[in-house]
Amino acid sequence: MRDNFATDFPLLKQMVNHEHLVYLDSAATSQMPEQVMAAITDFKKTDNANVHRGVYTLAQRATERYEGVREQVAAWIGASDAREIVFTKGTTEGLNWLARSLKIHQGDKIVLTMMEHHSNIVPWQQVAHRLGAELVYIEMTPDFQLDMADAQRKIDGRTAVVATTLVSNVLGTVTPVRELAHLAHRNGAVIVGDGAQAVPHMPIDVKQLELDYLTFSGHKMLGPNGIGVLWGKKALLDDLDPVEFGGEMISEVGLNETTFKPTPWKFEAGTQNITGVIGLGAAIDYLQMVGWKQIQQNNQQLVQQALTALAKIPGLEIYGKPTDMVQTGIISFNLAGIHPHDVATALDMQGIAVRAGHHCAQPLMKALGVPATCRASFYLYNTTTDVTRFVDALVATKEFFT
Ligand code: PLP
Repeated sequence: MRDNFATDFPLLKQMVNHEHLVYLDSAATSQMPEQVMAAITDFKKTDNANVHRGVYTLAQRATERYEGVREQVAAWIGASDAREIVFTKGTTEGLNWLARSLKIHQGDKIVLTMMEHHSNIVPWQQVAHRLGAELVYIEMTPDFQLDMADAQRKIDGRTAVVATTLVSNVLGTVTPVRELAHLAHRNGAVIVGDGAQAVPHMPIDVKQLELDYLTFSGHKMLGPNGIGVLWGKKALLDDLDPVEFGGEMISEVGLNETTFKPTPWKFEAGTQNITGVIGLGAAIDYLQMVGWKQIQQNNQQLVQQALTALAKIPGLEIYGKPTDMVQTGIISFNLAGIHPHDVATALDMQGIAVRAGHHCAQPLMKALGVPATCRASFYLYNTTTDVTRFVDALVATKEFFT
């Protein structure tokens, strides 16, 4: 069994500011292995054609590969049917489409959590303003978990939608999505899962989680950007109207009336990101080659090593629960008295890439009482040497500023 996958990632071999790059921002976007790049190049060199249009052999091969990835994604997340997989630009687009097409009425409640990424807040705000629906947020407990007593109070018979992240991109919190699904369903609401941070890090089975919809992004799981997935239960997708209109999503067009293709093709208007789909399929192949056991063991080892070392740095505050962080590879922190942007800039000078800012989660930052945090996020290509370099650089940064 291989124990170091970093060698598959060409980008990681470079020097930044005269130091070997240590990339710790995979929660923002992950790097791409040679194998995914090769699959994309191979498609471009051998099978590139538009899908669902041509009768010629090349077009058929392109269509087969495109639809093959749909089946692959369905199997990967435990969907019942490949027709439950809609290709999107990414998590954000999937959430926007749902916000625009779910049946929400004046006076309905849309229940979110305090941990949401802006992508799972702003689209619902827009629809709430437009339709006169009410936005409600489930609070957090002091140990960075969802307050399920609050969830029980807030999810009620007026609730049309519960939209929750599966994993917080700031805290690494793994939310009790199945319990939320139960609460939603008991009250006649649908549950939407934002899987952007979960799908790359843990096996997800949409049926086991009892979700109605799930969205995620290829670029956070070793694939290209500009490609993502909206999964929905077939009967629910059948019931939704498409949000975009144009070529390919139609069955028949008249001068005044159009009939649409069935699910999922009715949602895929115009030429799709076919190359992105091929890359997404190759990324799933790669993740399966490594295997969840190894991905999770590596994550756990790195986060434990980091947390042990970070605990020895006076004035370093961590936001999140270790049992969540070891599953998701996300560690948010601040160094007392030093602005997170200064910390991230000082780390960059030492070749270490971490994110600093509000992480597209300003309501969560307010709830935490901080304007920003630094975030180190690990993935399968990170090593124990990366963690040592990161912690040493952090110690040096603190010494520099104090
Ligand atoms: N939701 C969460 C939890 C995220 O972390 C992100 C990206 O950081 C998104 C949604 C948005 O993903 P994308 O920008 O790929 O659409």
